[in-house]
Amino acid sequence: MIENFKVLGYDSEFNGIIKKGSNTFTLPRVIKGEEIQADITLKPKLSARLTKVISPASSRIKPLCEYYLQCGGCALQHIKYEEQLKMKQELVSNLFKEAFDKEYEVLPTIGMKDPFYYRNKNQVVFKNVKGKLTCGMYQSGTHNVIGTTNCYIQDKIVDKIVTTIKDLMQKQRLSAYDEDRKTGLIRHVLVKTSKATKEVMVVLVVGSEVFPGRSNFVKALVARCKEITTIIQNTNTRVTNAVLGDKETVLYGKGYITDILLGLKFKISSKSFYQINPEQTEKLYSKAIELANLTKADNLLDAYCGVGTIGLIASSHVSKVTGVELVKDAVNDAIMNAKANNINNVRFICDDATRFMVNSARQKQSFDVVIMDPPRKGSDKPFLDALLKLLPLKVVYISCNPHTQVDDLKVLLEKYEIKSIQPVDMFPHTHHVENIVLLTLKNKK
Ligand code: SAH
Repeated sequence: MIENFKVLGYDSEFNGIIKKGSNTFTLPRVIKGEEIQADITLKPKLSARLTKVISPASSRIKPLCEYYLQCGGCALQHIKYEEQLKMKQELVSNLFKEAFDKEYEVLPTIGMKDPFYYRNKNQVVFKNVKGKLTCGMYQSGTHNVIGTTNCYIQDKIVDKIVTTIKDLMQKQRLSAYDEDRKTGLIRHVLVKTSKATKEVMVVLVVGSEVFPGRSNFVKALVARCKEITTIIQNTNTRVTNAVLGDKETVLYGKGYITDILLGLKFKISSKSFYQINPEQTEKLYSKAIELANLTKADNLLDAYCGVGTIGLIASSHVSKVTGVELVKDAVNDAIMNAKANNINNVRFICDDATRFMVNSARQKQSFDVVIMDPPRKGSDKPFLDALLKLLPLKVVYISCNPHTQVDDLKVLLEKYEIKSIQPVDMFPHTHHVENIVLLTLKNKK
C-alpha cells in the first residue's frame, strides 16, 4: 500500500528510516526530514519502496552517474557532499552516545576537495551475458553485471584499459570465464594505480591455465595503453567470491607498482592490502600521527600494519617501531618498504596480532604508543585484554567500521579515556565511515 511518510533518520548504512505504527521500515535514496511516498508491504517481510519524494531536502542533488539506481555502489550520490560529511560525523556521534551514554565531541569529518575518481584499486568483472561479452561492476549484493566501466569513483584510466581488453578479447576470440560451465578465460581485471608515480598495474584474473595468444594479447594491450607499467596473470579456477587466486605470473614489467605517501615510497603488489584513496590516506595518517603526539623517545607499535605504511611514516618521530601483520606477503612488502626508504628503526613481524599482544604482555614488553588499524570486524577480546596489561600511554584506534570500534572501546575504557574522535571520509558517496579515536591512560595527563 502506498502512503506518505517522513524520513526519521538513518540506519547504519544510511538507508532512511520510516515508521508505521510499531513497524519500522528502511529504504535507500531518501534524506532525513524529507516527506516521501513509499509502497510498503508487511508480508512475507517488512519492506518499503520509494515511489515519490514529496518535499526534497535542500541537500538533495541529481546523481551524476546514470547507473546510480542500478549499481548501489555510490548510494549517497543524491546528497550534496558537505551533507554526506555531516551525516558521517553525526553517525559516529550517535554511536558513541548510545554506547557510552555520554555526549562526546566528534570533530567534523575530514573530506576531499574533489570527491570523484579517487580509487587506486579498481575491479571490473567480465561475464558473458546472453551470449555477449560484457564487462562492468556487480550490482550491489548480486552477481548481475552492470555493463559500464565509466565509474565516477574509479580511476579514469580503467575505462580505457578495460575497453581495450574487451576489444582485444573479441579480436582474439577469447571469452569471459563461465563459472557454471568452467569454460572461457577472463574473470576479472584488476587495475591498481599510483597517482603519485603514475604507474599502472593490470591484473588479468583468468579461470583457466590456458591463455591462447597470450603474448600477442599483452603486446597489443601495452601498445594501445602506454600508461600500463606492469601486467600480471592471476589464475583463479575456484568457485569463490574472492577475486584473486593464488597463482601469479608476471607477463610484463616488474610485477608491482610504487606509490608515494607523505614522501615515502611504498611497493604495491596485487594482493597486499593498501588504502584505496591516496589523498585521504595522507590525511588519515597525518591526523593519526598528530593525535598520537609522538616523541623521539617513544617505542611505537603499529598493529595490523599491512605493508607498514603507518609505522614507516611515523618512524622519524619516534625511537623505534614494531609492526605486526598476519599476511606474509604484506610483511615482506613492509620489510622492502623500510629498505627502500632507508629506515632502520623499524621491525616487522608476521603474526596474528592477538597472539603477538598476548605474548608481549606475558613477556612484560612495553610500548609507549599503540596505533591499531584492524579489519572491519574489529579486534578481539584477548587482544584488548593484553593491551590493558601492556598499558601504553596512548592508543590511536583507526577503524573502517565505527560499529565494531565502539564495541572494542567499551573494553578499553576500563583504563583509558577518549580524548579525540575524528572521522575521515575515505569513501565518498558510499556509506562507509573511517574513524580515528585517541585514547589516553586514565589519571595520566
Ligand atoms: N594499517 C594498514 C592496514 C590496515 S587493514 C594500512 O593502513 O594500510 C587491516 C590489516 O590487518 C590488513 O593488512 C590485514 O591483513 C591485517 N589483519 C587482519 N587480521 C589480522 C590479524 N588477526 N593479525 C594481524 N593482522 C591482521
